[in-house]
Amino acid sequence: MKKLSIIIPCYNEQETVELFIHEMVKVESKVPLEFEYIFVNDGSRDETLRVLKEAAKLKENVNYLSFSRNFGKEAALIAGLQAATGEFVTVMDVDLQDPPELLPDMYQKIVEGYDIVGTRRSDRAGEPVIRSFFAKNFYKIINSISDVKMVDGARDFRLMTRQVVDAILELNEVNRFSKGLFSWVGFDTYYISYENRERSAGETTWNFWSLFKYSLEGIINFSEAPLTIATFIGVLSCALSILSMLYFFLSNLITQNPVPGWPSLICIILFLGGLQLFCLGIVGKYIGKIFLEVKKRPNYIVKESSLDI
Ligand code: UDP
Ligand code: MG
Repeated sequence: MKKLSIIIPCYNEQETVELFIHEMVKVESKVPLEFEYIFVNDGSRDETLRVLKEAAKLKENVNYLSFSRNFGKEAALIAGLQAATGEFVTVMDVDLQDPPELLPDMYQKIVEGYDIVGTRRSDRAGEPVIRSFFAKNFYKIINSISDVKMVDGARDFRLMTRQVVDAILELNEVNRFSKGLFSWVGFDTYYISYENRERSAGETTWNFWSLFKYSLEGIINFSEAPLTIATFIGVLSCALSILSMLYFFLSNLITQNPVPGWPSLICIILFLGGLQLFCLGIVGKYIGKIFLEVKKRPNYIVKESSLDI
């Protein structure tokens, strides 16, 4: 029988791990694949690791990797992908917001010939209105300025063939925005929609600020548009200043009195100074990315694991 590796990043999830396994056991018999669970403990500060160790003792196909500190979900994902040995790989949240009962249908689509079967939420019920608003606009912006298309509402929950996983592992960049990487590699993708679920227990680690930073990551990792905008702003303000120089020069010749206007001068200086800092900030963001990239630090450090890696 072929093997399905299930990668589950966990950060402070002591309450949800058991619920998750309980639900997964129900689908194990509905998919003609051997299941291999790879829980990645992303430096949890609660009892998650202990719960995982117990689960690994009770159920022989449960494995875990434990990081030396919190490296973030992206790092947990890549660690899981590297550790996975199955012909098929899926990535799931432990909080049951990615419904396990979709797996049989997802596998069916793979059998039909798709390389990736993704899932997307058809709605954002139970989510703050303001968060939905910004999320929608993020997808609009990123899709208009980046070559890589990202589907609104698409989750990380997806089933992939070994070929796709190998393609993703080929990308050895340190700054990883997996939503983009998954679509960058291409392949035939089928999306299954489902209604949004609330968390089974525990709390989300995302707040507005972290989501905002995450969306900036996406834009900077997958688009050079901000650099173009910065250049454009520079050219525009140059053109404006040349025009106003001409205007003041001519009006001085005609009316013969020097321009009064200390306040307007200060405003303009402040405005241009601001623009310069803004554009410098954008450039700085990209340089920061290059800096992190050239250091080639590992994405994560494993402290202990039930797998021999
Ligand atoms: N997660 C992680 N490391 C982190 C934050 C989150 O591994 O630093 C995991 C978390 O345990 C969960 C998944 O990523 O399995 C999604 O997190 P969460 O439910 O908080 O996000 P949301 O569903 O609200 O987008
Ligand atoms: Mg969640």
